[in-house]
Amino acid sequence: MSSDAILRLRRLVKKFGAFTALHGIDLDIAEGEFLTIVGPSGSGKSTLIRLLVGMEEVTEGTIELRGRRIEQTPANERPTCMVFQSLALFPHMTVGQNIEFPLKIRGVSPADRRRRAMELLDMLRLPQDYYGKGVAQCSGGERQRVALARALAFDPEILFFDEPLSALDYRLRKTLEKELKDLHARTGKTFVYITHSLEEAMVMSDRIAIMRDGRFEQIAIADEIYSRPVSRFVAEFMGEVNLFDVTGAENGGLISADGALYVNGNASGMGVQLAAGEAATLMVRPEFMRFLPPGETADFVASGIFHGEYELGSRIQYEVNTASGYTLTIEKLREDRFSGTPGEKVTLGFDAEAAHLIREARDGAR
Ligand code: ATP
Repeated sequence: MSSDAILRLRRLVKKFGAFTALHGIDLDIAEGEFLTIVGPSGSGKSTLIRLLVGMEEVTEGTIELRGRRIEQTPANERPTCMVFQSLALFPHMTVGQNIEFPLKIRGVSPADRRRRAMELLDMLRLPQDYYGKGVAQCSGGERQRVALARALAFDPEILFFDEPLSALDYRLRKTLEKELKDLHARTGKTFVYITHSLEEAMVMSDRIAIMRDGRFEQIAIADEIYSRPVSRFVAEFMGEVNLFDVTGAENGGLISADGALYVNGNASGMGVQLAAGEAATLMVRPEFMRFLPPGETADFVASGIFHGEYELGSRIQYEVNTASGYTLTIEKLREDRFSGTPGEKVTLGFDAEAAHLIREARDGAR
């Protein structure tokens, strides 16, 4: 991934009547990057991508492609291509005719078109004899690959994807996630992808942008977003998490606001210190919490009543209810299974290195 921005968005606003769907988006997308935009339904992901490909008019702000303003450029003159969930392939045509379509409208000769279609079949791991096969005779996953091949035949500078895998079954989705990531590496193109699925975002992307109510809440690599979210919203959006209300103590340590947590160590292992009286949220992911046997301690300790366990496949998830009415979630690999009895009192611990402090207004104000 080079550091040059291929696409630069500045103060991008989109209004639908009195409703503002995007509130002044700033974003630089690097050449060759795989950027995924995730967010809840209605947060503005599709609207943003529709502005970028020219399917929707910008209300305010600018879009620059390699330094050239394109926000007024019609969709068909932009060097971008969109891959949808609904595939929009021509059902009466063969696989080959579908892939060749963009080349045909550009006047490429039949021999060159065929050669390129064969290369693309290869790239998408489809057998060469699929060239003559009817699209209607292909499976869902094969059709998705044909759609990708056709998008690549356009040879766009940027490929946009609007939830292209969401209609497929779990197994196929998993396979195609990896194939898309490989395809990105092999083509070197810039991919901008939107999805509801965090897992999909984590598997494929260089960077993830979390969208909320028409703004970006955080843009970073997957590990950063998962381990060091900037807000409770991002922390909770990125999967199971335990959150504790804390305030800064006079001695530089932390105090549990509702007594749910016993603070043994101080905040030094987290690389952040709170001012005395400053309110924040202490976060720990379920895999970093452990059941403490009698006599063992940790930087942070909580106790509660063992509620039950849930099989997650390779891992097991446990729930523990604290006296303050909070449900803590702990995850262990199967080989580290904890055998608890529902109703039993248990002690849990985690260390400062595994914890992260989120400093924001706790009432959700941003
Ligand atoms: P989803 O994940 O459900 O597809 P999204 O994050 O892609 O959601 P958008 O489709 O971008 O969200 O919609 C953002 C907001 O803009 C929503 O509140 C939606 O109702 C509104 N909106 C989108 N298109 C229009 C339109 N043409 N007219 C009026 N409001 C619209």
